[in-house]
Amino acid sequence: MTNQTALPHDHEHCIDSALTLARELCTERAVKLTPIREKVLEIVWRSHKPVGAYDVLDTLARSHKAARPPTVYRALDFLMAEGLIHKIESLNAYLGCGEAGHAHESQFLICRTCGTAEEIVDGALDAALDAATKRSGFAVERKVVEIAGKCRRCQMA
Ligand SMILES: [Zn+2]
Ligand SMILES: [Zn+2]
Ligand SMILES: [Zn+2]
Repeated sequence: MTNQTALPHDHEHCIDSALTLARELCTERAVKLTPIREKVLEIVWRSHKPVGAYDVLDTLARSHKAARPPTVYRALDFLMAEGLIHKIESLNAYLGCGEAGHAHESQFLICRTCGTAEEIVDGALDAALDAATKRSGFAVERKVVEIAGKCRRCQMA
């Protein structure tokens, strides 16, 4: 799924499989995917462009009039804790995870032209980072690899 991000594809399929997987994982883990949490996940998955919390709120408020920023932040925190979405730090925005259910470190390719972000999961890259930080004796708290540029589709356009 992830390597198709920048190519035309059936995005309804991405949304469907993400929501189905989220329901399964939450059932397995005995955590509650409340209607609000599920709706927020669906909003984040509307495209492969990372979406900010206030944009999520704008969309959510159309169906849930009582939704307020804390509602959205709580739902986003839950979804992150369950590994269903990632935060893109450089954009202060959220992206659906295409690898939910598998422990992974991810790297992100962020297109500055169309705004899509592609998640790549490269174990070799992650191992190289681990080795490099270890050599420096650095205690890592958070690893963020976000690469800005132009996606395949935008280069062809
Ligand atoms: Zn898609
Ligand atoms: Zn992921
Ligand atoms: Zn692009």
